[in-house]
Amino acid sequence: MFDYRPPADLLAGRTILVTGAGSGIGRACTLSLLAHGANVVMLSRSRSKLENLYDEAERSWPGRSFIQPIDLSRAGTDDYAAIAASVERQFPALDGLVHNAAVLGPRSPIEFYPEKQWREAMQVNVNAAFLLTQCLLPSLAKSADARILFTASSVGREGRAWWGAYAVSKFAVEGIMQTLAAEVGTTTSIRVNSLNPGGTRTAMRAAAYPGENPDTLPTPESLMPVYLYLLGPDGRDLHGQALDVRDFDPRP
Ligand code: NDP
Repeated sequence: MFDYRPPADLLAGRTILVTGAGSGIGRACTLSLLAHGANVVMLSRSRSKLENLYDEAERSWPGRSFIQPIDLSRAGTDDYAAIAASVERQFPALDGLVHNAAVLGPRSPIEFYPEKQWREAMQVNVNAAFLLTQCLLPSLAKSADARILFTASSVGREGRAWWGAYAVSKFAVEGIMQTLAAEVGTTTSIRVNSLNPGGTRTAMRAAAYPGENPDTLPTPESLMPVYLYLLGPDGRDLHGQALDVRDFDPRP
């Protein structure tokens, strides 16, 4: 795993929004960003999980975490406009956007894939990332050094039977990343990449591989050096890349 031990003030003064902050990798990311000085807007579906996380954050880093409960499978234009307005009101700029929320959906051949769950996976994993990016780009453009990080998966880089909408949605995520990176690369200081965390000890992984012993997997916390590198000043030269936590090493 990438060995990176940044100072505790790595992200001081930066504001980063994390989706799917309530559980798994998003939760670990939120706590790690707070521990390194950032303000974090924590967006997720479950209000109670966010409130628990907020209470934990306030004990160690008072005044730097903000909760934004929202169900991305149902959110409409007004909800996105309200999020953008709230970010604009509270912060001079947005310095990071981590698209981490996702749903797995059922494992099923495409022939039998349930339409409702197909649409939900596309809505949460793809459309929400598009809509949130679109409404937050003005705040990101105000930052001198902004990042957008999409969350990838190995089944979104090479198709795999039975992974259905999840795999297709993750291919789409790579498409958004590449398209957006090409658009903003020369006109703004926003840097855009995708990152595949790889198999990680979370509820989603347990649902995908119920027979697997979770103790054999890396914890979400162990991935955080890569997230910190990409979201902090050291990651400013990486742009438009499909990255993997497992073999991440930007040094020449
Ligand atoms: P978890 O299932 O543990 O967490 C997913 C998060 O997404 C939760 O916080 C959940 O909210 C949020 N979420 C799901 N649906 C919605 C919704 N409708 N509206 C708002 N928030 C929602 O997953 P992981 O931590 O494992 O996954 C994080 C990311 O990493 C995902 O993009 C996943 O595809 C990717 N990934 C994970 C791998 C792994 O092995 N774990 C491997 C490769 C990629 P709530 O807590 O409220 O339910």
